[in-house]
Amino acid sequence: MISGIHRPAKLVIDQQAIFDNVQQAVKRLPADTVLWAVVKADGYGHGMLQVAQAAAAAGATGFCVALLDEALGLRQAGFDQPILVLGVTPANQVTLAAQQRISLAAPDAAWLQTAAATLQNSTAPLSVHLAFDTGMGRIGVQTVAEVQAAMALLRQAPFVFDGVFTHFSTADEADTTHFNQQVQQFKTLLAAVGQRPRYVHVANSATSLWHQACASNVVRFGVAMYGLNPSGDALPLPYPLKPALRIESELTFVKQVPAGAAISYGATYHAAQPEWIGTIPVGYADGWQRRLQGFHVLINGQACEIVGRICMDQLMVRLPEKLPAGTKVTLVGTDGDTAISLQDVASFAHTIHYEIACGLTMRLPRVYL
Ligand code: PLP
Repeated sequence: MISGIHRPAKLVIDQQAIFDNVQQAVKRLPADTVLWAVVKADGYGHGMLQVAQAAAAAGATGFCVALLDEALGLRQAGFDQPILVLGVTPANQVTLAAQQRISLAAPDAAWLQTAAATLQNSTAPLSVHLAFDTGMGRIGVQTVAEVQAAMALLRQAPFVFDGVFTHFSTADEADTTHFNQQVQQFKTLLAAVGQRPRYVHVANSATSLWHQACASNVVRFGVAMYGLNPSGDALPLPYPLKPALRIESELTFVKQVPAGAAISYGATYHAAQPEWIGTIPVGYADGWQRRLQGFHVLINGQACEIVGRICMDQLMVRLPEKLPAGTKVTLVGTDGDTAISLQDVASFAHTIHYEIACGLTMRLPRVYL
């Protein structure tokens, strides 16, 4: 996708904020626990390599990604730390991971069997973290028998049994019933492993913020690194985080319309009186979803409503007065005493800030502070 560098719209990423968020989290970890930065999905839209750099400088000692390709991207950029692919890598693709010292998640014994066959002629062993499905219902072994079947394979070449992990589905919620059940099931499955591997890990951001992680020694730190509260606004943060991302643009066109004038596709908005309307060169092709019609942007510290349908490349707002083209517009960030957070955007769009951040397309250039 072409990045719009000649258009006044950009995503500004504050690497110092990422550094500070990671440094704070690292400081709070027990002595034997390390933090691995979760930089999948292009660092939740913030830029995988820049985030990895800031996180490593702040004390992250490893990385988690979702795809083998993301791990290879980190290696190619020169990151030498441990990298774990959290998703299921096709078992016929594992040789590349072994060669590049990339650890893979094993979802079950069948996967290990196919991976072993693929690795028959590989000179490098494959580092594996066995996934436990303790109640997320996504990947991993669920029973003691399944753990034992996986372990029978994992103790042999061509594998290095490096870790076990699970993922909590409700660590960001006030009700801890399901969380506690997952913890119990994790303990049961861990007991069936026999000798503990080097890495035992259960904690995402929410777990590290609000729970005592059970017997684990790695935190997989994702959304909080970007300065976002994993719970949205359901749970208060135990310490402040710094949001790392802002979205800025400008008015590209300003006009006055008469009362009754229609704005944008479908003519869903009509001016109630003569109104000043500003056009902003950002649309749903940038990840600014159509459902944000009726939400607002900040101009000169004031909230200006998005009126009419959001187009692919442009949107319109109602201005309080005549303003010149070129006036700064904040879609996410602070302007004077007012602010729009990614959570505000997500709440309006009935989704989570993760989805808004990951949905910001590469057409919006990333500028790093
Ligand atoms: N661990 C696993 C297995 C994940 O899938 C994710 C993210 O989706 C994370 C850790 C990081 O979660 P968070 O961004 O909520 O910290």
